[in-house]
Amino acid sequence: MSASKRVLVTGGAGFLGSHLCERFLADGLDVICMDNLITGDLANIEHLMGDPKFTFHHQDVTHFIHVPGQLDYILHFASPASPIDYLELPIQTMKVGSLGTHKALGLAREKNARFLLASTSEVYGDPLIHPQREDYWGNVNPVGPRGCYDEAKRFAEAITMAYHRYHGVATRIVRIFNTYGPRMRLNDGRVLPAFMSQALRGEDLTVFGDGSQTRSFCYVDDLVEGLVRLLHSDEVDPTNIGNPHEMTIRQFGEAILRLTGSTSKFVEKPLPVDDPKIRQPDIAKARRVLGWEPVVSLEEGLQRTCDYFRDKLGLR
Ligand code: UDP
Repeated sequence: MSASKRVLVTGGAGFLGSHLCERFLADGLDVICMDNLITGDLANIEHLMGDPKFTFHHQDVTHFIHVPGQLDYILHFASPASPIDYLELPIQTMKVGSLGTHKALGLAREKNARFLLASTSEVYGDPLIHPQREDYWGNVNPVGPRGCYDEAKRFAEAITMAYHRYHGVATRIVRIFNTYGPRMRLNDGRVLPAFMSQALRGEDLTVFGDGSQTRSFCYVDDLVEGLVRLLHSDEVDPTNIGNPHEMTIRQFGEAILRLTGSTSKFVEKPLPVDDPKIRQPDIAKARRVLGWEPVVSLEEGLQRTCDYFRDKLGLR
């Protein structure tokens, strides 16, 4: 019998990383989770700690990383990823996107491992093309407050392609659109944890601007399925993974109010600088190449997420 495949997930104690670790364990792989825990949380992986196929390395991926033994896959998910996080941690955000991606690619080259980069819809900035297709180059303000994240991820994509072209590393790039689900951090400032905790506590929902800006929200299980399919595909160029079901932020808030049965009202707050006005993934490529599309409805996904937040807030 051949030994299990081994996978390294950087940022493995984060929201998406922890779901990936879980998925790979379920698929029978040996999983090494690396995280410096600046935005990740051990509570996200506590339930995996007793599994002999799971190892946790408390390490910063921007420094030299050493992992003994063979590695078949590296998924580079380490990065602050919510607007509040990267506003508070702009230097770490730039370092992990640049130096961290370089280190993770070096390790992939050394181990002859397949590498998957977590990129983002933020590479499209405040888009002038709608919905966003992978061949759109984006409209990013490099010197605005979001520039540290957007440009770090654009650099990460560029160095990933350089390692592919120059060193022949097998690389994959996913552009992740807004994703939600259990294990989002309560206070990460993103719209879902904000609205959900406000609705559950009977507080006003803080809408930034007039709430007419749009987003398209993907449930985490759908996203993970898309990522795993991309990893096992031959697609080197960036691929959008997200849910094309677009809505305004107000409509999203209304869906959360309906689901929680809350009578909270909306209160408007200033719109953050460079907040994209519209966002919707064009997933024609993922449908064609990966045979993938989201299957979890907004109601179903919000219900599962709400159960998690009720527990976190001690409301059950
Ligand atoms: N937003 C909001 N209220 C909040 C948090 C966010 O209205 O309490 C808005 C934010 O301005 C943006 C959208 O919701 O237009 C999504 O924000 P999020 O931070 O979740 O992610 P983004 O898509 O901006 O990266």
